[in-house]
Amino acid sequence: MRHGSIPGARGRVRPLTLLGDPTLHAPCREVTAFGPELAALVEDLFATMYAARGVGLAANQVGEDLRVFVYDCPDDEDVRHLGHIVNPRLVEVDGVVVRGPEGCLSLPGLEAGTERYDHAVVEGFTAAGEPVTVHGTGFFARCLQHECDHLEGRLYVDRLTGRRRRKVLRRAARAPWGRRA
Ligand SMILES: [Zn+2]
Repeated sequence: MRHGSIPGARGRVRPLTLLGDPTLHAPCREVTAFGPELAALVEDLFATMYAARGVGLAANQVGEDLRVFVYDCPDDEDVRHLGHIVNPRLVEVDGVVVRGPEGCLSLPGLEAGTERYDHAVVEGFTAAGEPVTVHGTGFFARCLQHECDHLEGRLYVDRLTGRRRRKVLRRAARAPWGRRA
């Protein structure tokens, strides 16, 4: 991305995959080609995330089985974090475990109290192949853990148990988009 360019400005808004779509429920493949197609995918992810008013989006949420996600997410101090990461590895999670409301663009309109660590560190690469390390606290740490989960084929509902899990799955099944769930 060139200095001064707006992320997603050259991207295409793609349809979102929803709970029940097989792409969301299987681990994604490592990226091996850091070329123009990857850069275009990152742009599409930004365009799609902004169109859906999300704070993060993983590639399998637009049907691409690749380990990439984008984010534009505040932390609890209202500091904005904006970027993308390729082949991310969640190398550290620690701090207190916080149960907070969490939603997902692949389960539109729903949310549930989900437990996440308050601090997370992710290592990976830019679309140009440069190594990057991203530190997150608070809500941004939650976002990093949520997006890393996506690339492993896990949704936040997979972290819920008992009544919380049943409730959100029941609502998903009743949602207009939930027929396939
Ligand atoms: Zn999500």
